[in-house]
Amino acid sequence: MSGTGLGSPGLDLEKLRMAGAGLALAVLTSGGDAQGMNAAVRAVTRMGIYVGAKVFLIYEGYEGLVEGGDNIKQADWLSVSNIIQLGGTIIGSARCKAFTTREGRLQAAYNLVQHGITNLCVIGGDGSLTGANIFRTEWGGLLEELVSEGKITEEVSQTYSHLNIVGLVGSIDNDFCGTDMTIGTDSALHRIMEVIDAITTTAQSHQRTFVLEVMGRHCGYLALVSALASGADWLFIPESPPEDGWEDFMCERLGETRSRGSRLNIIIIAEGAIDRNGKAITSNYVKDLVVKRLGFDTRVTVLGHVQRGGTPSAFDRVLSSKMGMEAVMALLEATPDTPACVVSLSGNQSVRLPLMECVQVTKDVQKAMDEKRFDEAIQLRGRSFENNWNIYKLLAHQKPAQEKSNFSIAILNVGAPAAGMNAAVRSAVRVGICQGHTMYTVNDGFEGLSKGQIQEVGWHDVAGWLGRGGSMLGTKRTLPKTCMEKIVENVRKFNIQALLVIGGFEAYEGVLQLVEARGQYDELCIIMCVIPATISNNVPGTDFSLGCDTAVNAAMESCDRIKQSASGTKRRVFIVETMGGYCGYLSTVTGIAVGADAAYVYEEPFTIHDLKANVEHLTDKMKTDIQRGLVLRNEKCHTHYTTEFLYNLYSSEGKGIFDCRINVLGHLQQGGAPTPFDRNYSTKLGVKAVLWMSDKLKESYRKGRVFANSADSACVIGLRRKTVSFSPVTELKKVTDFEHRLPKEQWWLNLRLMLKMLAHYQISLTEYVSGKIEHVTRRTLSIEKGF
Ligand code: ADP
Repeated sequence: MSGTGLGSPGLDLEKLRMAGAGLALAVLTSGGDAQGMNAAVRAVTRMGIYVGAKVFLIYEGYEGLVEGGDNIKQADWLSVSNIIQLGGTIIGSARCKAFTTREGRLQAAYNLVQHGITNLCVIGGDGSLTGANIFRTEWGGLLEELVSEGKITEEVSQTYSHLNIVGLVGSIDNDFCGTDMTIGTDSALHRIMEVIDAITTTAQSHQRTFVLEVMGRHCGYLALVSALASGADWLFIPESPPEDGWEDFMCERLGETRSRGSRLNIIIIAEGAIDRNGKAITSNYVKDLVVKRLGFDTRVTVLGHVQRGGTPSAFDRVLSSKMGMEAVMALLEATPDTPACVVSLSGNQSVRLPLMECVQVTKDVQKAMDEKRFDEAIQLRGRSFENNWNIYKLLAHQKPAQEKSNFSIAILNVGAPAAGMNAAVRSAVRVGICQGHTMYTVNDGFEGLSKGQIQEVGWHDVAGWLGRGGSMLGTKRTLPKTCMEKIVENVRKFNIQALLVIGGFEAYEGVLQLVEARGQYDELCIIMCVIPATISNNVPGTDFSLGCDTAVNAAMESCDRIKQSASGTKRRVFIVETMGGYCGYLSTVTGIAVGADAAYVYEEPFTIHDLKANVEHLTDKMKTDIQRGLVLRNEKCHTHYTTEFLYNLYSSEGKGIFDCRINVLGHLQQGGAPTPFDRNYSTKLGVKAVLWMSDKLKESYRKGRVFANSADSACVIGLRRKTVSFSPVTELKKVTDFEHRLPKEQWWLNLRLMLKMLAHYQISLTEYVSGKIEHVTRRTLSIEKGF
């Protein structure tokens, strides 16, 4: 594959082209709007055009489908330009009564046939997707009726005899079973966290209690993740009504935290929260209770539509793009016998699942709740939901252990600061204390460990750390090799039996050095764990590092602004340099999220031919209405083709056609408060790392001391596909390129095809990994949700 992918088209490309030729497909958005729907519309449209199909946009959801006329318009490549950053849906969404009737659907069928459309992509919630499935099932009968009414000929009816349906779930509630995430959920969490962060500052000044009501009439996902990501004191979700007598427990708990010095209490309540008898628990009821019983100054904030608003997060833009591309693949491969499918997310891969089975499991959750089988409801929501719930309960409701264990764990941050480091320290410290361990924190990484900058910490020392960016402990890049003797001395002096190292590539390298020195120093035969935390996302053993989601969002927001700055000035190309060392993750994912024209990375070597092709591509683009370009360049992608070089090349070649500007994003990519994903992910990894260390400590405790020298006693904790796994640092050596500080294999490289296709390059899709799933069971649907 060449750099910008402008190589000659492969066989598969030709096959795909032929598959799409002569087809007409339409896309609509329906039900409640969600951020990211535009990115999905864009991806479906562009992939559709890419495979040679005619693509139609249907405006105003099913309403437009039933009314027809100007509501159904053929789209070209530019119809969906510059929409990826917009919230809501540019093609409009509506609820439509007529479509719930057969007459309405008859009219809709007529309108589709008029345009020769037999492929429909519906982006909406389970209601909209159920409607689409009914439409597909009835299609044959509807056409017969149209023939009998003389509206269409028998020949037309034969030509368009099958309707293929594919669904994408757009719903901020994440209430659809079968997918890890629905379109809009992550952005809604961003909005919620912005509000919580704002409230936290004012509430702390006045010692207040905040009752925050978030959306979710039937599903508590938003409330649950917000509670986890904000360290809320109490949480109400429909799936798990509180035990009778909760009023007493809650007030007792709030009183306790206040007496321990907390100036702020947060209570999060899902819109659909109920008690064990099915009676609604309202935010005002909770507020009145707190005021009456405790006399706390308490305020209610109902977030409402704020949660649907604003620009989509990077995750939603990438998710929607992936799903949109896969939706077109699904339509191309559909036969009259394939059931309608929904494109969903499994780990970091988009997959196809039978639509109606997913709808059924989603309904089963509601049924379980209606029938008060609450534990089952939580299980049916999926593994991720259950995991989140258990971790929330562990952190919010457990108290420090009464009895001390024999163990002590020291925590340090290594490398450059990354968002989420503090959240991971917080949850690790608290879970450690719950287990009875002595918890130490170390300032300034391995250097601080060698200098004895070590102190014991308590529960409240880490209060308020969840939402803070950077590293509260202080971090350095120093590797243990340079100060091994001193480190050993302090490990002995403080009797440290486990080391939790949170950081980037140096964290990994550092722990490896300690492990390799075990033969020399018995003191290093202790339990070690690395939590990857770096904006570069280049640590082996995990798909994601803490902080990389925050960095991508920061880079994306900057690029959005850069793009917008040129809205008045035409014919301008921006060259934006991103961080990441040799790792092109940040550049690639930001590129997809902002709709960049190219993203140059080290992992995909490029030559002068690619640069030339890109200049020509931009020159062509300047002839269209979109007289603006954005090219990303990872800081170490090429020794000679520097950012300056690209600027000079583009400026010279584009002379008279476009002008060029450089932006080096630099350290702003490291800063800022962590995103909801990073807060949640960091919290979870902190908890899981300490629980794992506790088990390992017990296993290796003999004759009054810990002695661990097996490979699996020093691991990197990471997320691989959708499971949290522990990989021995020594084993990861084989899969690591130490010279360039990279894992040898990186999952996200296949996203680059999408970046190029969406930027209008002629690429080969030979390496595209389709999400086709042959066999799926109910059980897979319900338990395989997230990590
Ligand atoms: P969501 O898709 O967000 O769940 P709704 O349930 O309101 O939202 O559905 C949106 C639209 O989808 C409805 O207004 C209706 O036009 C259509 N729809 C929903 N359920 C059905 C159904 N069972 N049959 C036909 N159309 C339906």
